[in-house]
Amino acid sequence: MADLRGGIDLGGTKIQTAIVDAGGEVAGEARHPTPTSGGPEDVAAAMAAALREAAKEAGVETGKLAGVGVGSPGDADEKTGVVSNARNLPGWEGSFPLAKQLKDELGTGVKVGNDVQVATEAEFHLGAGREFQSLIGVFWGTGVGGGLVLDGKPWLGRGAAGEIGHMVVKRGGAKCPCGRKGCMEAYAGRAAMEAEARRQHEEGTKTDLFKLMEKHGKDRLTSGIWDRAIEHGDDLAEKLIDRAIEALGTGVASAVNLLDPEAVIVGGGLGVRFGERYMEPLSKEMGKHLFVDERPPAVRVASLGDLGGAIGASLLFASS
Ligand SMILES: [Zn+2]
Repeated sequence: MADLRGGIDLGGTKIQTAIVDAGGEVAGEARHPTPTSGGPEDVAAAMAAALREAAKEAGVETGKLAGVGVGSPGDADEKTGVVSNARNLPGWEGSFPLAKQLKDELGTGVKVGNDVQVATEAEFHLGAGREFQSLIGVFWGTGVGGGLVLDGKPWLGRGAAGEIGHMVVKRGGAKCPCGRKGCMEAYAGRAAMEAEARRQHEEGTKTDLFKLMEKHGKDRLTSGIWDRAIEHGDDLAEKLIDRAIEALGTGVASAVNLLDPEAVIVGGGLGVRFGERYMEPLSKEMGKHLFVDERPPAVRVASLGDLGGAIGASLLFASS
């Protein structure tokens, strides 16, 4: 049983956990909502509970796991296990020793890593990027995150590499949730797309986006709502998705010009939902900006789906 590892993908809305064997197969999994109030201690307790549930399904005690990896938002320090500035989590503006807290709760070693980077490495080792030695992971969801594997190794920079969502695609352009202007995420992130849809709707542009949102009992425009609106031929939804694809194509092509990777793997909530349908338009948009355009990188949709983050987190214990 010692070769079983735990993985926790800590997201702003859900905590996804998985117990993974040495071959990358999932032996148990559980998903809990992320607490919306309290502080880091409460989030850590919810993470431990979700991991215990997954371990129970896999028939293993958490103390017998080879270790538990965490893919975390904010600044996750792999060396110290401290997570800082996870602003989409309740009361997490400061620093919190997440690895230590979870180690005490679960009785096994815990490592933390950046959520998008570990998901990229999962695709590299076990998913859509298996055949490549270098790739860029683009996680198109609420924001647009990125991860890098170069020459078979993760590239973390000084800890903050891969922020592909904040590649500037238009100087002085739309306001980004990060506070700056013209970032790729300002056009392609789900949150920014929703803000733009709301603005245009309030100015009188016709759209069913918000009607669909209410009808399906959601409080935000989820990827499923965007999907339905597109199916209904909603003009505004189509326009904003096209605008997102244009921004993604521009930003990702710029990153490709710099790094020349073999592949681009597109994941995230919107990426997985729209990936196959929009892979061709995305490649076409990228093509406009590729400096070496006769040899474009492969563009693939992430294949591990919702579990990619948790599986990737478990890999923090794969090479130790
Ligand atoms: Zn930004």
